[in-house]
Amino acid sequence: MVLFGAGLFAPPLIHSMRQHGLNPVCIMDNATSKHGQSIHQVPILSPAEGHRLHSQLPVVISAAPKYIEEIRGQLVRMGWTRILDGLRWMSEFEYEQDTFAVGLDSLHNEIDRYVDEYVSIYHRDRLFIPSIDVIITEKCSLRCRDCSNLMQYYTNPRNMDADEVFLALDELMGFVDHVLEFRVLGGETFVNPSAWQFVERLRTYSHFTRIAVYSNGTIVPKGRNLQCLQHDNVYLRVTDYGPLSRRTEEMTALFRSQGIAYDVLRVDGW
Ligand code: SF4
Repeated sequence: MVLFGAGLFAPPLIHSMRQHGLNPVCIMDNATSKHGQSIHQVPILSPAEGHRLHSQLPVVISAAPKYIEEIRGQLVRMGWTRILDGLRWMSEFEYEQDTFAVGLDSLHNEIDRYVDEYVSIYHRDRLFIPSIDVIITEKCSLRCRDCSNLMQYYTNPRNMDADEVFLALDELMGFVDHVLEFRVLGGETFVNPSAWQFVERLRTYSHFTRIAVYSNGTIVPKGRNLQCLQHDNVYLRVTDYGPLSRRTEEMTALFRSQGIAYDVLRVDGW
C-alpha cells in the first residue's frame, strides 16, 4: 500500500498497519520539503513519483480527517482508483501488542484524536466536542503576569465546589454525544485538595475519551489526588516553566513509578 500525508497521523497509521501485517512502501506528500525524508523507514515521495512507481497499489490517506475529501479529489485526478482512509487501522490499534519503547502516551492521544475527528466530520448529526475545560480552582502557586486564565485578577480566589460544577456539566453532557477530552485545570490543580472528586465524577460519564489533568509542576499530588490519576483514561500534563516548575522532576519520577501516564509541555516564554 501507499500512504498519502506525511504529517502527525502517518506514524500511528504505520504502526497500526504493521500490526495488521501491512508495510506501506512509501508516503506521498505535497510538501516538497519532506521529499527524500522518511517516517519509520518509509520513504516520503512527491505524489508524481509515488504514482510513477506504485500506481497499481491502493492508497491510504494518512492525513488529518478534515483533509480526506480534498486529498481524495487530488488522487482521483491523478488516476488512482483504489483510495482508502485510515480509520479501520487506527481504530483497531492494539496498544498492548506494540513493541516500540517511547511515545506511547502521545501515540495513544494521536490515534484517539484521529478517530474522534473522523467521527465528528463523517457523522455530522452527532454533537462532538473536542475538549471541555473544567476549572476546579481560582488559586495558583505561581503568579504569571500574563496568565491566560486570568488568575492575577482574582481578589478572593477559591476552590470550586464539585456539586456546583457538575450541576452545569451534567446538563451539558445530556446534550452531547461525545467529548474527546476533559481538561481539569485552574490555577494550579493540586492546590485544590479535592481535585480527585472532579476526576472521579468525570469518569462516571460514559461518552468521553480521556481526562487530562494539568499542573504547573510545583505541587506533587498525594493521597487521593494521586490515586485518581491511576486510570487508563486519565493522564497528567505538566506545563514546565523551567526553574519555576521546581518539582517537575520529582513529579515525573513519581508518575513513572506509579504507572501514571503523563507528558511535559515545556514553555520557554510567558
Ligand atoms: S501557572 Fe498557569 S494558571 Fe498559574 S498563574 Fe501561571 S499561567 Fe496562570
